Amino acid sequence: MVSLNLSAIKEAILDILYPQNVACILCRQRAEDIDEKGLCRACADTLPTIAPPVCHKCGRPVVEEGICIDCAYMRYHFDQAVSVLHYTPEIKQLIHRFKYGGISYLSRTLGWWMAQAFEQRCGWKVDVIVPVPLHPRRQRQRGFNQSALLAKELGKYIGVPVNERALIRKKYTPAQAGLNKFQRMQNLQDAFEVREIEAVRGKSVLLVDDVFTTGSTVDECSRALLQAGVQRVYVLTLATGR
Ligand SMILES: [Zn+2]
Ligand SMILES: [Zn+2]
Repeated sequence: MVSLNLSAIKEAILDILYPQNVACILCRQRAEDIDEKGLCRACADTLPTIAPPVCHKCGRPVVEEGICIDCAYMRYHFDQAVSVLHYTPEIKQLIHRFKYGGISYLSRTLGWWMAQAFEQRCGWKVDVIVPVPLHPRRQRQRGFNQSALLAKELGKYIGVPVNERALIRKKYTPAQAGLNKFQRMQNLQDAFEVREIEAVRGKSVLLVDDVFTTGSTVDECSRALLQAGVQRVYVLTLATGR
């Protein structure tokens, strides 16, 4: 009986120390076959990775290879955007837990997925990674900036430095959810500012965010970066959906 109790205690401790090793990060089921990235075999095999055809500009899935309808009508400031995963209900929930639950160990896996997509799908030459910033007030509420966590993990895997201070959010904007594209653009007008111009001028910047919805946020960041003398901006986000 003693050994049984010990193993229960051991499991409880492991659960606290390494929760990703005992339950799958996506389906949250306990399983024997959790891989080093925290996924059970079933979830690893069915991960909703985005594959071609995608829009060459914004990276969202399309029916036929080329440019999507949105990109045919508007011009984003960034050169190109790529997203790693479809924004399925499971991925939405995972990102939500990552973003609001303070579950920072998830950033290792999410950053790894981004690094894989960067290496396999992007072919971009980048000098520095810049995360989409949160307003200081929101960052204090949340305790961390989810995009900065993703950027740091990604940077470690692909060997590119991260600059968290170059771009700041100077305007406290209401949440974007529920707003249409035009309202989002208005909401974000002059929301971002480049603080460390010398750190980014003339460089190729990789902008990182968690979700690409209408692209308004990353586009507004791109506009501010280009205005400050950045040579080009590429965008990598974890998930996108229509
Ligand atoms: Zn699973
Ligand atoms: Zn597009």
